[in-house]
Amino acid sequence: SRQFTRPLNDLANQFNTLLSAVAGAERVFEILDEDAESIDESAAIELEEVQGEVEFRNVSFSYEKEGSTIRNVSFTADPGQMVALVGPTGAGKSTIINLLSRFYDPDSGMILIDGYDTSTVKRKSLRSHMGFVLQDSFLFEGPILENIRYGRLDASDEEVIEAAKAANAHSFIEKMPDGYRTVLKQDGSGISQGQKQLLSIARAILANPAILILDEATSSIDTITELKIQEALSRLMEGRTSFVIAHRLNTIRNAEKILVLKDGEITEQGSHDFLLRKKGFYYELNNNKR
Ligand code: ATP
Repeated sequence: SRQFTRPLNDLANQFNTLLSAVAGAERVFEILDEDAESIDESAAIELEEVQGEVEFRNVSFSYEKEGSTIRNVSFTADPGQMVALVGPTGAGKSTIINLLSRFYDPDSGMILIDGYDTSTVKRKSLRSHMGFVLQDSFLFEGPILENIRYGRLDASDEEVIEAAKAANAHSFIEKMPDGYRTVLKQDGSGISQGQKQLLSIARAILANPAILILDEATSSIDTITELKIQEALSRLMEGRTSFVIAHRLNTIRNAEKILVLKDGEITEQGSHDFLLRKKGFYYELNNNKR
């Protein structure tokens, strides 16, 4: 179903359009940055060090002139916390991420990072503190080494390889015909879905952001790769504020905070155990998934 295949649309489209138009990470960054800077407010500030506290304060938003996609959404995430976004298709999970990364701005309410109203922050600066591991990993035509380095363009080869090791990607890369110099095709065809995920985890580890956005992969991945991914993800998430669009019960259960969305509103929030005891909408979702 759509629920299980749709990536974070706007984000994914932005990157994918760029990646098919240009070859090489530097050019992609240039274009994204130009685009972001052209719409930044002239007084916008840079966000230097970020601890990773995130707050949505009464945020409402609509893609269209009429109606509302999300209504009065409020929550806080403490630095390092893992937050799961759950709810039926169309509930507004991706929209919350689109707003957090400022591909859109709220119609009302405020989004704060470490207490700073993000509408006053330069988009490029804001996004430099965020890492994305999405279902569609944005691979471009070029060597694996450069595809990982895209996470931080000034990283040395050694740092890229360290990140690949931490992401459990090193062993499969070494087995490729030209190792780290193996040239990937534009959409990463030729390597498996799971291997693409490991590469995007390596990229995020290299980028070292305070805030992580994860759209959990749902396509069929073999058990061994799946375990590698899980291990690499826990390593990546350690000490970072993570927002996970979660499709699996196991992932959701591990979250310190679960935001339950329904028709654009947060109907419940809390830990897995708390929400089960409450016997509300989350409890129902859980029963349906079994
Ligand atoms: P899914 O689990 O299917 O990915 P979701 O909970 O992430 O769903 P959203 O993608 O946030 O839901 O969508 C919320 C609502 O906004 C849906 O009705 C969707 O059709 C609509 N929507 C999403 N993106 C856009 C857009 N770019 N323009 C207009 N409407 C949109």
